[in-house]
Amino acid sequence: MESFANFKISKQLRFAIDDLGFIKPTPIQSQSFSLIQSGKDMVGIAQTGTGKTFAYMLPILQGLSFSKQVQPRVLIVVPTRELVIQVVDQIKTFTNYMTVRTVGVYGGVNINRHKELVMQGADIVVATPGRLYDLVLSRTLQLKSIKKLVIDEVDVMLDLGFRFQLINIFELLPDKRQNVMFSATMTDEVELLINDFFNNPTSISVAVSGTPLDNISQVSYAVPNFYTKANLLKHLLINEEVYCKVLVFVSNKKSADLLFNYLEDIFVADLAVIHSNKTQNYRIRSIENFNERLTRILITTDIMARGLDLDLISHVINFDTPSFPENYMHRIGRTGRAEQKGRSLLFYTDKERSSKEAIEKLMGIQIPLTELPSEIEISKQLTYDEQPKHKERYNPLKEVGTGKGFHEKKDKNKKENLGGSYKRTVKKKYKKPKTKGDKNFNKRNKK
Ligand code: AMP
Repeated sequence: MESFANFKISKQLRFAIDDLGFIKPTPIQSQSFSLIQSGKDMVGIAQTGTGKTFAYMLPILQGLSFSKQVQPRVLIVVPTRELVIQVVDQIKTFTNYMTVRTVGVYGGVNINRHKELVMQGADIVVATPGRLYDLVLSRTLQLKSIKKLVIDEVDVMLDLGFRFQLINIFELLPDKRQNVMFSATMTDEVELLINDFFNNPTSISVAVSGTPLDNISQVSYAVPNFYTKANLLKHLLINEEVYCKVLVFVSNKKSADLLFNYLEDIFVADLAVIHSNKTQNYRIRSIENFNERLTRILITTDIMARGLDLDLISHVINFDTPSFPENYMHRIGRTGRAEQKGRSLLFYTDKERSSKEAIEKLMGIQIPLTELPSEIEISKQLTYDEQPKHKERYNPLKEVGTGKGFHEKKDKNKKENLGGSYKRTVKKKYKKPKTKGDKNFNKRNKK
């Protein structure tokens, strides 16, 4: 059996573990302890509740020597004020028998209070990105001594639009440091950040275990494009008795809004959408209505659905196929809870076929294919993202849409640019090209 005795940890930490009543390490703790201790960069795919805070804190605290230095050596960045408070509280219990100074800073309160705290000296700073950056700009906090950086819930952070703040912070950190990141879901944006700022990290994933596959029936539909998917969804959802509590997953906010707008007129009050651009109040109301069965269908993004406590979902509909297979496991884990048989449907286009195969490989089973009902209208309409793109001639990195733009152009912008307006005006006036060469030519001809 895996036990804390297998970890080489100090007496002080062992006392704290005993006080907390932890008997054995959780899977993420077992997997990450020696890795983080070795100093390598690490990416952990794990949700809240897996014991991830202790998973990164235990090896960090084990390696943290006593110091009176003012500037911190460990930086933990999290997306929300609540999480700062929670993580600081947890660290304080872990360090009950050690002398470690931990400071939490977050936006929404007077910065002077945080300046005073930081100036008193800290070993560990736990911060939201914005407030952290402000403290650095004010020169109260210096990051040059940071040896270990932990970014927790990075998917949420990027979804909230903190990418630039994170990059700014990376730029201020010393190059020689260890990076540890946790994310519940993998997204393209998360992957990009890892590629840009991490040094060949090892990935650990504990998201998959525990998903009750036996209890979930899965089917898939091969569908050519977004609007045909929308037609199929509409066709299925009309059956209110079968599709009585449906969670529809899409991978981003744009698709969520597009789909919501398309279905809104048909399902009216039965339908709601949540993503991070909706206000907190709107989201809370939508979730409450869904839980109380006032709305039947909830469209959501992967990230938004995390943290939600939703019960008795009759169907999970994967409107698109997640490119990270773990996200599919999270999605379908929302149905088939509490002895109830759950149902999952997966819509995939040709482009998404390889993602579907990756999911099947991860699960070790094939998702049975169901014929598209004959009454489904196959749409020819393409979304902007589906339209073929061609590369601009002198800028191969820039994509140029071939179809019409989203909006009708204003009249003044409709004019075609013919270039050389001066020459055209002159030509119109003199009925022939008026250039230096012409002038000489005309002179010669006059003689
Ligand atoms: P986290 O995923 O870090 O938010 O942790 C979730 C909860 O699990 C927290 O309340 C921790 O105190 C608790 N926890 C962390 N590690 C263990 C463990 N090894 N055994 C039992 N509970 C734990």
